[in-house]
Amino acid sequence: MDIFEKCYKYLTVKDAKETGIYPYFIPLDENEGTEVVFDNRRVIMCGSNNYLGLTTHPKVRAAAIDAIERYGTSCTGSRFLNGNMRLHEELEAELADWVGMEAALVFSTGMQVNLGTISALAGRGEIVILDKEDHASIVDGAFLSSGKIERFRHNDMDHLRRVLESLPEDKGKLLVVDGLFSMEGDIAPLPELVPLCKEYGVRLMVDDAHAMGVLGGGHGTAAHFNLTDGVDLIMSTFSKSFASLGGFIAGESDVVDYIKHNARSLIFSASIPPANAAAALAALEVMREEPERIARVNEIGDMMREEYQKLGFDTGDSVTPVIPIIIGDDSLTFMTWKLLFENGVFVNPVISPAVSPGHQLLRTSYMATHTDEQLEQVLETFKKVGDELGLI
Ligand code: PMP
Repeated sequence: MDIFEKCYKYLTVKDAKETGIYPYFIPLDENEGTEVVFDNRRVIMCGSNNYLGLTTHPKVRAAAIDAIERYGTSCTGSRFLNGNMRLHEELEAELADWVGMEAALVFSTGMQVNLGTISALAGRGEIVILDKEDHASIVDGAFLSSGKIERFRHNDMDHLRRVLESLPEDKGKLLVVDGLFSMEGDIAPLPELVPLCKEYGVRLMVDDAHAMGVLGGGHGTAAHFNLTDGVDLIMSTFSKSFASLGGFIAGESDVVDYIKHNARSLIFSASIPPANAAAALAALEVMREEPERIARVNEIGDMMREEYQKLGFDTGDSVTPVIPIIIGDDSLTFMTWKLLFENGVFVNPVISPAVSPGHQLLRTSYMATHTDEQLEQVLETFKKVGDELGLI
C-alpha cells in the first residue's frame, strides 16, 4: 500500500474548486488593513485578527525595520543556545507587567506556546481538562503531553463540576480554556471557573490569543473579570492584536522557569526574529499610549452585533468583536461566503469539524481602524446577500 494513496484520492478540495466555491488559501496581493486585494478584487476585510489595526501603524513598522537594521533578519538558533536576545527579555518583562504576572516567556508562535507549555507541565498520571471548544493548539498540547485528557461541554459549569468530581484528588490537574473563544466570540466564565478550580485543586490556564488587546482594557480575560489573582497561567499570541508573529506564556517565576527548561517547542525551535519581537514590543507601547483603539474595537463589536441581530441574523452567544453569523449548513455557508466576497466583503467560512454540525458559520471580526462607512457597506452587503439566499 502506497502511503500517498490517500492524497491521490483526496477529492474534496478538487471538487469544491471545480464548482467554484473553494474559499481557502486565496492569495492576497495587498494587505493594508481594513481593505485588502485578494486575487485582484478589493474587499473590506472582516475576517482578520488584526483587532487594533496595528500591522500598519507607523511606530510598529518603524520598530520592525529598525530591528532588522540593527540585528539582521534572524536569530538562527534556539533561545536555549545562541538565539536569546536582550530584546526578547525586554519584551518578556513588558508582557509580564501588562498581564500582571511575575514572569513571561516568549515562544516563536502561539501554537508553540500551547504545545510546549501543556506538554511540559502534564506528566504521566496527571490530568489536562479541556473545554470541548478549546483551540486546536491546546488540544494538540494536551495530546503531546503524557497526561490524561478530560473534556467538559462548552462553558457548561455543571458538567465541569461532574467531571472534576470524578477525578482522583491526588493527581496534578491543569484546566485550559480559551478566554475569548475564537469562533463564536463568547467568553470563558472565569467568575465560576476560578472558584471551581480552587475547590478541586486544579491549576487554571487561559489562552488569551483573541482577548489580549481587546478585553479588560487590552490586558485580557482575567483583567476583564478583575480575576488576575485567580488565574495561574495566561498565554497569548503576537499574531493578532500585537501585529506580529510569536507568543508568550506568563505566570509565577518558578513555573515559567520550569517551562523555559522543559518546553520542547521552545528549546528545539529557533527564537522569534528581531523584527517580530520589536514589532510586538512597539504594539504593546501603542496599546498603552492609544487606549482609544481598544475602546473603538469593542464599540464596533457592540454596534455590529446589534445591527446583525436587527437584520435577523443569528449571532450565537457572541459578546465581543468576534461575531459569528450562524448559517448551520456547509454548502449554504460556502454560498453565502462567495456572494459576500463577490460583493466586496471578506469573512471566514467555518464548517464542521471546526464547529459542531448545525453551527456552521461565517466568522466576522473587526478592527479598531474600520471606518463607519466601511461598516455600513458591510451591513448593506449582508442584508442584500441575506435576502437573496433567504437567510433573513
Ligand atoms: N490559541 C488560539 C485561541 C488561537 O486562535 C491561535 C491562532 N489562531 C493560537 C492559539 C495560535 O497562535 P499562533 O497563530 O501564534 O500560532
